[in-house]
Amino acid sequence: MAGSTNHQVQQTIYANGQWQSAASGATREILDPADGLVFAVVSEGGEKDADHAVAAARHAFDEGDWARTPVAERAALLRRVADLLVRDREEIGLLESRDAGKTLEEGRVDVDCVADAFRYFAGLVACEAPGRVVDAGSPEVHSVVVHEPVGVCAMITPWNYPLLQASWKIAPALAAGNTFVIKPSEITPLTTVALIALLAEAGLPAGVANIVTGPGHTVGARLAEHPDVDLVSFTGGLVSGVKVAQAAALTVKKTALELGGKNPNVVFADACATAEGFDTAVDQALNAAFIHSGQVCSAGGRLIVEESVRDRFVTELARRAEKIRLGRGTADGVECGPMVSEQQRARTEAYVASALAEGAVLRCGGKRPEPSPERPAGGYFYEPTVLDHCHREMKAVREEVFGPVLTVETFRTEDEAVALANDTEYGLAGAVWTADAGRARRVAGRLRHGTVWINDFHPYLPQAEWGGFGKSGNGRELGPTGLAEYRETKHVYQNLAPKPVRWFAG
Ligand code: NAD
Repeated sequence: MAGSTNHQVQQTIYANGQWQSAASGATREILDPADGLVFAVVSEGGEKDADHAVAAARHAFDEGDWARTPVAERAALLRRVADLLVRDREEIGLLESRDAGKTLEEGRVDVDCVADAFRYFAGLVACEAPGRVVDAGSPEVHSVVVHEPVGVCAMITPWNYPLLQASWKIAPALAAGNTFVIKPSEITPLTTVALIALLAEAGLPAGVANIVTGPGHTVGARLAEHPDVDLVSFTGGLVSGVKVAQAAALTVKKTALELGGKNPNVVFADACATAEGFDTAVDQALNAAFIHSGQVCSAGGRLIVEESVRDRFVTELARRAEKIRLGRGTADGVECGPMVSEQQRARTEAYVASALAEGAVLRCGGKRPEPSPERPAGGYFYEPTVLDHCHREMKAVREEVFGPVLTVETFRTEDEAVALANDTEYGLAGAVWTADAGRARRVAGRLRHGTVWINDFHPYLPQAEWGGFGKSGNGRELGPTGLAEYRETKHVYQNLAPKPVRWFAG
């Protein structure tokens, strides 16, 4: 429900160093998912705005200095951005909390991680060799492989980690010398807008960073197909990702897709042999499934637990899941915020209903909580839900739910555990819990997922690549590969003593 509002319209389109409204004059109301009320009004861009921003980025790349700015200066700018993020941590953390429905503490941690990403890519480019000399087999040839920016990058991002996902694209793209146009999710654009303002404050030249707020099917689609865009980096759902890849293919632009996941959390009985081990594995299973109401691409929504410990494990898990305090992310003591939208909650409800119809047993949750002072009736809350006795033919086990829902399956042997964990069209992340180091390494080696955690869940490092196998995507963010995505590779072969080749006699 959108409340009536007198909010001032923010100009949230930024092209060629100017904040502006949509060419059409259209606006969009941004809702606070904790109460369903409007808390900001932004510009609703369209194709014309996308074209204008791409032209600015193209001009800045072709005619501007950014691509040729010494690496040390580019790195210094990224570090200034990190400092500005630290300065504005409370403000931006709060904005992220309200926009995406996370707790304030999660919002703050996101800002810290964004600053870390800027620092990491600054450090990475600052200490690189300028090229790789190749032995051409002759002292009269100097042959070197160098890396250059790709050019104009389009970036399309989702609503669950709006600022973090933006930073994993913006920081390496700028470090490599590109210019860009970003289109954040239409429902959570505010912190990306704030980040663009910080880039300008840090001294980035006009035209290098551009943002167009607006819908995917207009702004996003136009960026993906645009002939003046050299690369599109997309993070979001599988269906939209396929559309982006199809549109981008027509101009053969480089495409990086970071898509969904259906992430197994495999728990062996030996991990639960001690009271401490049991408590840790249960605690982390809760974290895996329910942080940010399960709206995490790497959410461990699929618990695969050894049959002998299943009852004890699931009973304790459900007992603790019931106690998770849901409410507005800024309220004291709240541990989990609302879902991002009514649509996302309805989708989750449909998955739970289908699992129950297919024979799952509800151990907790499965409904909307009662309203309370910290949980307004208009908010999109849904209780953490544990569904026991699930099997791999169920829709909720096969598809990405993207809500606070944990399905439970069991196994008896290591082979069975691996087969279940790999039985998904996705392959983003997974975890294995065991006290046996040999088994941990064996299972980790056999999991077909881009990240495998052993006796942990969710940590990622800016210096380690993030991305998926299978339909979880074809790109990598973070780490050296996350920088390489934003570069072209060029071989420069210099003949120091040119002579005729005489291939043709005449
Ligand atoms: P979504 O696919 O609906 O939207 C993502 C972005 O794509 C939005 O900005 C949207 O406006 C845009 N978009 C939609 N249709 C488009 C089109 N035809 N052309 C161009 N752009 C279009 O996804 P969402 O609901 O915002 O986010 C949730 C999804 O994102 C989940 O599947 C989640 O797993 C995934 N995700 C993946 C990662 C990762 O690192 N792999 C990280 C976060 C989220």
